[in-house]
Amino acid sequence: MVVDLPGPLPRDWGAAPCLDLINSHWNDHLGSGETYDRLPEPRFRRAFLKRWHYAVADPDNVAGRARLRSLRSFLRDVLEHYSSGRPLSPSMRKRLESEVNRAAMALRLSHGAAGYALSVEHSGTAWDVVSADIATSAARLMTEGASVKVCANPDCTWMFMDETKPRTRRWCNVSVCGSLVNVRRHRAARHD
Ligand SMILES: [Zn+2]
Repeated sequence: MVVDLPGPLPRDWGAAPCLDLINSHWNDHLGSGETYDRLPEPRFRRAFLKRWHYAVADPDNVAGRARLRSLRSFLRDVLEHYSSGRPLSPSMRKRLESEVNRAAMALRLSHGAAGYALSVEHSGTAWDVVSADIATSAARLMTEGASVKVCANPDCTWMFMDETKPRTRRWCNVSVCGSLVNVRRHRAARHD
């Protein structure tokens, strides 16, 4: 069955590229059981790539899209482990390392009219650079001890970084899931 997307672009973008990629596939927060995928949407891919300054020759490249799809489910698994305090298995750690190192960096020293300049050079294709950067952003969240959470609405799969000082943020978006769950709780209480 083909389900209409709520829209090609998300209401909220994330604090890291891995979160935006992960959240491009999500469950209906109302609990209908529908899942949605923005990755096949050309407008989403372009906006995502632009937002994180990723330059690829063809955002519609089939292999590139497949790479992102595979990375997406892997990174969700990784960050769900991390956010719930479960350690990554050795094979997950190994894969994350290899994703991070898909486009090894080297510094080049050049000399021109303006003097010397250091620039970063990547090995690999433009898609390698993109996927390595996205994977690195997930590894950074973990190494920096970021508070990564899944929305407290059990029907919602949205992942976000809680940047509040007391780390008390619970919802992907208060006006989407916070009010919905509060209304349900309120209704349930009235039926007691
Ligand atoms: Zn939510």
